[in-house]
Amino acid sequence: MLFLGYYICGGIVLVTILISLFAQVKVHSAYNKYQQEASPLDMTGVQLAHKLAQDHHMALTIRSTSGHLSDHFDPRDNSINISHDNVNSKSIAAHAIIAHEFGHALQHEENYMPYKVRQATVKIASFVSKLLIPMIILAILLEIFVLMGVGNIILYVYVGIYAVSFIVSLVTLPVEFNASKRAKKALAEMGVSGENANGVADVLNAAAMTYVAAMLVNFAYLLRILSLLRFFSRD
Ligand SMILES: [Zn+2]
Repeated sequence: MLFLGYYICGGIVLVTILISLFAQVKVHSAYNKYQQEASPLDMTGVQLAHKLAQDHHMALTIRSTSGHLSDHFDPRDNSINISHDNVNSKSIAAHAIIAHEFGHALQHEENYMPYKVRQATVKIASFVSKLLIPMIILAILLEIFVLMGVGNIILYVYVGIYAVSFIVSLVTLPVEFNASKRAKKALAEMGVSGENANGVADVLNAAAMTYVAAMLVNFAYLLRILSLLRFFSRD
């Protein structure tokens, strides 16, 4: 009975990890499917990025980046970084992903509040991850010195870390959904409609599910560590 809550939370963690794996499989299958289908816009990924920037009067740097599905917008130098698979691709999948990254560029340009909040929380999370090892060492030393059963300092450190991860994954959701909404709109304005628009939506919705799954995993980890904390602070 002692660790029942902990085991239940462990089970929840397992379920969320399975959901997350399922979402990863879905995103890859949607991507592979629509990579075979040509976009009605006869242009490569790079050309599409330039066209979007031009049509919206934005000065963006467009470059290629290594890795599979590693496309991203970098606010530090206002650049859209396109993965090798998508650079020269004229597929629905490539266009959906590039338009999504362009959606982030628009969010940055417009100072869209959820985007700013997300950027701030990512900075906090990377700061926390740098502090991780020193904090744990400090917590161990403190416990050795204090040598009392008063709570578990390491657990508090972990609760803090998991809480930050959860908050980052939570504030990521509105930002990602909004970038996809902007992507669909931008492509529709260029004449992508009907079946093609459905393909774009399939790719972007599958990608969105991976963010929802990541948030669930983070939530489950937080629950699990909170159940441990509750157990140790009971006596
Ligand atoms: Zn995104």
